[in-house]
Amino acid sequence: MIIEKVLESKQGKIKQYPVNANRASELGHECLRYLVLNRTRWQEKTLHDVRLQMIFDMGRMVEDLVSQDLREAGFALIEQQRAFSWAKYQITGTIDCKIALDGQVYPVEIKSSAPHAFASINSAEDMRRHKYHYMRKYPAQLTLYLLMDNKDKGLFLFKNKATGELKEIWMDLDYEFGESLIKKAEAINKHVTEGTLPEPIEYNEDICGDCGYAHICMPNRIGKEVEISDNTELLELVMRYNTLKPGAKEFEEVDKRINELVKGREKILVGDWFIEGKWYDRTVYEIPDEVKQQYKTVTPCWRKNIMKV
Ligand code: SF4
Repeated sequence: MIIEKVLESKQGKIKQYPVNANRASELGHECLRYLVLNRTRWQEKTLHDVRLQMIFDMGRMVEDLVSQDLREAGFALIEQQRAFSWAKYQITGTIDCKIALDGQVYPVEIKSSAPHAFASINSAEDMRRHKYHYMRKYPAQLTLYLLMDNKDKGLFLFKNKATGELKEIWMDLDYEFGESLIKKAEAINKHVTEGTLPEPIEYNEDICGDCGYAHICMPNRIGKEVEISDNTELLELVMRYNTLKPGAKEFEEVDKRINELVKGREKILVGDWFIEGKWYDRTVYEIPDEVKQQYKTVTPCWRKNIMKV
């Protein structure tokens, strides 16, 4: 009963707020279509679940805890939760705080982190190349704060949610990267003004699998030429495929059999699952490096994506 009541209260906090600008925390998102939908059809975004709401709430608590740790250690924190707005590019954001050090003031982003993610980053470059899409957005967020605040260096403070350990990662302003983010904001604004929508990215489970606009985007992606399949073997295999972990022995067997069934078929709808596949060229060098360019071969390969619709 107690937990149910807590979950109920958390559920009440889940709301979608109007989006009238490009949020700095989102501009690192790799799908322009998502960013445009976020401006034009934010009302239709699928709301996140209670589990994610609890993670967000914990993140905010961790942020307060880190600020408190910093103050107790004698650091001066200023402009906590200061809102930024860059009207020219329609970019907005809220910086966690700024820290005063040796006569300088630096923007600070505080992030709470699961142990494995915490261990995997030691630089802004690690974040930019990270396998988790949410982590890849962090450097973009701080870069935009640096640009808006006219600073050339900022700080990430990560707190390990399991151990309480802290990690400090400094990031220099990368002007080229900053310029690419501004260009992205301009592209979004143009689409918003002209009422157009960019093409979807190639399906990526890490990004599209979590996308609140997948229900809008996927029917467009699926299109008209979809082949409806009533192959029960394929349906059972696809369902099994999505419950098994990659690397498990059965996963490989299931994957192999699905490949046999779908190879060469571009769009299949089987049950609630959409399978998209396409040929791509794999280049194989079958000779020593020094002469490989003379012996380049191109082999057609089949790549598939399976997604819940
Ligand atoms: S589902 Fe994928 S392609 Fe479509 S908007 Fe979302 S992230 Fe972009």
